[in-house]
Amino acid sequence: MELWSRRKFFLTSLAGSAIAGATKLFGRTLSDSNGATATARAFPGSPAQGKRPLIISSANGLHALGAGMDILKKGGDTLDAVVAAVTIVEDDPNDDSVGYGGLPNEEGEVELDASVMHGPTHRAGSVASVRRIKNVSRLAKTVMEKTNHVMIVGDGARRFAVAEGFEEMNLLTEHSRKIWLAWKAKSSFNWRPGIDSPEWKEHISAIFDGDEKQIAYAERVIAHPPTGTIPCMAVDSNGDISATTTTSGLSWKIPGRVGDSPIIGAGCCVDNEVGAAGSTGKGEENIKISGGHTIIEMMRQGKSPTDACLEAMGRIAHNYKNDKKKLGTFHIYFYAINKDGMHGAASLWRNGYEPSKQASYAVHDGTESRLVGCNSFFDAVGGDQ
Ligand code: ASP
Repeated sequence: MELWSRRKFFLTSLAGSAIAGATKLFGRTLSDSNGATATARAFPGSPAQGKRPLIISSANGLHALGAGMDILKKGGDTLDAVVAAVTIVEDDPNDDSVGYGGLPNEEGEVELDASVMHGPTHRAGSVASVRRIKNVSRLAKTVMEKTNHVMIVGDGARRFAVAEGFEEMNLLTEHSRKIWLAWKAKSSFNWRPGIDSPEWKEHISAIFDGDEKQIAYAERVIAHPPTGTIPCMAVDSNGDISATTTTSGLSWKIPGRVGDSPIIGAGCCVDNEVGAAGSTGKGEENIKISGGHTIIEMMRQGKSPTDACLEAMGRIAHNYKNDKKKLGTFHIYFYAINKDGMHGAASLWRNGYEPSKQASYAVHDGTESRLVGCNSFFDAVGGDQ
């Protein structure tokens, strides 16, 4: 697996190509109250009928869903299954979007957000802006299980974690620290001698010991502050449902900035009678439309997970009057499952966070973990695909 390849990028650099290609509309037509339309195409793997048990996540959970499926197959609880899966990603120093090794805030501190919802007991837990605690999905579950609250934030969440036996640790890996140092240093070169100067090239080369691959990666994440997350949701053979979302959020963020991931009803939402939903990407846009809750309500009214995700995406587009130039400055995904074991996802743009790749998500329905193409709201690749 390529190191640090799972970090996701804002699409500032893609705005041009997105606009150029966004006129092409796919099969299913959606319209908003402005009369603007966008469409979605069904990709292989988006089932017309469901299969249980089922567990899905963002694409960076591809290697982790098997652990959750093992629990589901043994008749374990759906929340244990999703937390087991995302814990693997939180523990992975090479995923700099989640947990240990996540890219830090502007002060060089990794701050994590997470939430859980347990469908059968209608309970929820969440934590935000937590420092020095790695497994925040398990911490959110502990808030749910050990308190009468839903959300604990900041230093209170850290102290709660320590009291509950979580280990405190430095979450900044050498990789993340060096990129943060380069991000800070770059602002001091902005005025003079300038970021295209040989002096800057020399400086960044010294930080990464001349490693061209790391330098290129650092330049990218410095220019386009990335986000990254793993939402994960599961339904067992009885139709019980749970979900979790865990993240290090927006890199270089203002300390204390909280995204959608720990917001119940935005980055994570479960209704045991209906299904579950989660999100990745620019959390602020999701919070403004209560995306998770919107998707659940759409599925309750009979929409498939895919169509429900596209409906939520349409609301984000509508907030910008479908202005693709403005929408082209960010990326966002929605993911959903329903009680029958159907799954679906929608991306704002057809291409993924990595511009050269199509947006996808990870699905395990009992046989193997595989990537499935997202339905996209706009086509950012261009042409009549
Ligand atoms: N949604 C997360 C946040 O806004 C980040 C991400 O998913 O990329 O914090």
